Amino acid sequence: TFESPISFDQFQLGADGLIPVITQDYRTGEVLMLAYMNEEAFHETLKTGCMTYYSRSRKSLWRKGETSGHYQYVKSLALDCDNDTLLAKVNQIGAACHTGARSCFYQNLVKKEYQESNPLKVFEEVFKVILDRKTNPKEGSYTNYLFDKGLDKILKKLGEESTEIVIAAKNPNPEEVKYEISDFLYHMMVLMAYKGVSWEDITRELSNR
Ligand code: AMP
Ligand code: ZN
Ligand code: ZN
Ligand code: ZN
Repeated sequence: TFESPISFDQFQLGADGLIPVITQDYRTGEVLMLAYMNEEAFHETLKTGCMTYYSRSRKSLWRKGETSGHYQYVKSLALDCDNDTLLAKVNQIGAACHTGARSCFYQNLVKKEYQESNPLKVFEEVFKVILDRKTNPKEGSYTNYLFDKGLDKILKKLGEESTEIVIAAKNPNPEEVKYEISDFLYHMMVLMAYKGVSWEDITRELSNR
């Protein structure tokens, strides 16, 4: 149960009496969906710690995940500068979108090529591919080769790559060390997948120190 220092009647509601809520993945910041709350939905969200919206199509209270199991556990709620929009950060179980997509915003309209700037997201994406190789082996995959060879092979590679970082770091060319750190991190993620350790386990451990 949460308590809010600002009550619902201080929100600037739309003509429909609802407040829009932008919902983000609390770890990556990925925008998952936009939905609306009425007063009851807001109170229910505070009370249960599960995102509860007001469905404009069904005209009823809607606890996200009630039929799909794709619940959203509240990590934070914030109100914008002019009190007319809520921002929720959540632990999203499964997919936010009823289509099964992680985020509702998968219909790209305009896109310039750019470098993904959220490091955690890059790690999670690479890690997802590694985990997927484990369950769906792919012909000619180096990751599957490592899994098949087993723990000793993975550890041997990890040891080699860490030595290569040390050697590269002595090299005045900064490109070398980037390359070797990337190799090391990849092999480390293979080890994590092998041992059943997730990035969440690691970041939780680090932030608790
Ligand atoms: P759920 O809350 O995930 O159990 O889904 C129940 C129903 O809510 C779905 O069948 C959709 O009609 C609707 N719904 C679920 N997620 C979304 C979403 N992200 N945006 C709009 N409607 C949704
Ligand atoms: Zn503002
Ligand atoms: Zn606003
Ligand atoms: Zn959707």
